[in-house]
Amino acid sequence: MKLVLATRNEGKIREIKDFLSDIKGLEILSLLDFDNIPDIKEVGSSFEENAYIKAYEVAKFTGLPTLADDSGLEVDALGGKPGVKSARFGGEHISDEERNRKLLSLISNIPQEERTARFRCVMVFVVPPDFEKFVTEGVCEGLIIDKPKGKKGFGYDPIFYIPKLGKTMAELSVEEKNKISHRGKALSKMKEVIRELFSL
Ligand code: IMP
Repeated sequence: MKLVLATRNEGKIREIKDFLSDIKGLEILSLLDFDNIPDIKEVGSSFEENAYIKAYEVAKFTGLPTLADDSGLEVDALGGKPGVKSARFGGEHISDEERNRKLLSLISNIPQEERTARFRCVMVFVVPPDFEKFVTEGVCEGLIIDKPKGKKGFGYDPIFYIPKLGKTMAELSVEEKNKISHRGKALSKMKEVIRELFSL
């Protein structure tokens, strides 16, 4: 049984392969294993739409069951922004540090207890020939702190504080992060979908 991950992000590929590695009989490919896959624009207005666009286009091109994800940070004091625009928030070509500084400047007058936020991840699995769609979602709740803390992870991790752990996401090891993260939760639900669908 072959499955394609609709991403070229090597970190994501490693993480997802590792997560699904105990499903016997599943061969996991990614966009790195194919030539000429057209560039897919994330033009959707929700995580699900964007993940579906990626999964559907790649499933159509490869003829194989395809898994895609889309994720981002929702800050309540900013009406849910940056949301689907998380990767480009504040400008396409700025660093993660600059992006975090920009976000912090927009909520500098908001008291700590009102800085609630969540990471959200939606996974979409599309299966040819009927292009049937399966969707799972994971969220991780936290607070935006006023100064970045921690060196691990990526993106908004240093400003995302998890009260029940007393740490920011950037202070967690990969294993600790996978247990509580939006992506880990969405993926563990999808793993059950895949097992059931293909009787693996
Ligand atoms: P994508 O799902 O790869 O398109 O990621 C969207 C953007 O959301 C990333 O570029 C990050 O800015 C942000 N993001 C998603 N997941 C995480 C995470 O686990 N930690 C920090 N930032 C994240």
